Amino acid sequence: MKLFSTNKKAASATFEKAVMQGLAEDGGLFMPTEIPTLTPNFFAKIDTLNFQEIAFTVAKTLIQNDIPEKELEKIIYESINFDAPLKEIKENIYALELFHGPTLAFKDFGARFMARIMSYFINKTAKKITIIVATSGDTGSAVASGVYNVEGIRVFLLYPSNKVSKIQEQQLTTMGGNIQALEIDGTFDDCQKLVKEAFLDQELKNIFAENNDSLASANSINIARLIPQSFYYFHAYSQLKKIFGPNMEPPIFSIPSGNLGNLTAGLIAKKMGLPIKKFIAANNANDTFTEYLKTGNFTAKPSVKTISNAMDVGNPSNFVRIQELYQNNPEKMRQDIWSASFSDKETAAALKKVFEKYNYIMDPHGAVAYLGLQAYLENSPAPVTHNTKNASVNNPLIFFETAHPAKFLDIVEPIINQKIPIPDRLAACLTKEKITTKLSKNFTDFKNFLAKNAK
Ligand SMILES: *Cc1c(COP(=O)(O)O)cnc(C)c1O
Repeated sequence: MKLFSTNKKAASATFEKAVMQGLAEDGGLFMPTEIPTLTPNFFAKIDTLNFQEIAFTVAKTLIQNDIPEKELEKIIYESINFDAPLKEIKENIYALELFHGPTLAFKDFGARFMARIMSYFINKTAKKITIIVATSGDTGSAVASGVYNVEGIRVFLLYPSNKVSKIQEQQLTTMGGNIQALEIDGTFDDCQKLVKEAFLDQELKNIFAENNDSLASANSINIARLIPQSFYYFHAYSQLKKIFGPNMEPPIFSIPSGNLGNLTAGLIAKKMGLPIKKFIAANNANDTFTEYLKTGNFTAKPSVKTISNAMDVGNPSNFVRIQELYQNNPEKMRQDIWSASFSDKETAAALKKVFEKYNYIMDPHGAVAYLGLQAYLENSPAPVTHNTKNASVNNPLIFFETAHPAKFLDIVEPIINQKIPIPDRLAACLTKEKITTKLSKNFTDFKNFLAKNAK
């Protein structure tokens, strides 16, 4: 697999380099120079394959011989070791539940896969790496859980003070071992900026290199985080085909979007040949992408706080990758992607309605995606029929449930007026002591901290 930088100034990179470095030298994001398509035979029998078999085929096709097949298979079987089931909410509308991993959010897929890919590469060279990652909540715990106790890797988690839920903060700050939480006095965008700056700082790089260590990224900018997120689009398709049969119309996916990593992975899946009619990028009040599709102008904004806080991103980092996929052409993008944004009030109302009418508890992020589907059905220029199970006229409608509602107890419980049972793996961290290092949003403070910790 060969990759190029979206800034076009850096030379092309191998998969190993792209993963270990995260960001290209010119500050761009890595993208595959070629996205191969899967065979007709794969699609013909996709409904006979399980999730891991599907993931392995997709990974092998994309990554090719950068990792020997046996190793790659092992990495897949260890990282994709929980399901992503489709749940029918009402006729022809399904939730794809992506929260059955160890930290109850879809970011477990990317984090577990990336940790094992990195571990494979560092074992080859006997080096150490220090992952720095900015998190708006879920990324951090997923990355921490993914690399916990993996030899040669340690993690610094940067999170915005007072801007993640209590439960998320407990998940981030109680792991110990090779995981250290940094509580930043700022927003998620400030955290992300610190991480980006650190990667471009030559002096820091040298200090780490002297210690046989290097800085690595784990945000959705890392290509190894993105790749496994395409697997569950194929798996969803496979499950749908079992329901609707071989003549199924291509599905429509609604994705609750922040940094647009999940959406980008879906677009890659489509490029690999997966039949998808439309993607819906559902935004909360942070509507930079919605506005872009509407106007053709991309205007980054400061993030605003919402009840779907993992999507509180004003300057989505994967936007440049999407531009690459569509040659900077918003008109082409609109053929595949539709977008709308929703207020907290609308999100809460949808959560309540779906619980009362269909007895299904969404989390606030899933609720935004559900709203995206509804709005698309109302506004779509060529309305999709959605009132019968006749597969020949139906586009199955899927929204992503990206986190377990118990991760957002304080938001969800008052809305549905009901207690949510807390899964054991979440309850375990709630009683542990929070340990953090507090830092300002100043790069100098962060740099000094890293430099001190490199020695
Ligand atoms: C990160 C996250 C999102 C947003 O995903 P992107 O890939 O950044 O667009 C949505 N929901 C949850 C629960 C998340 O953790």
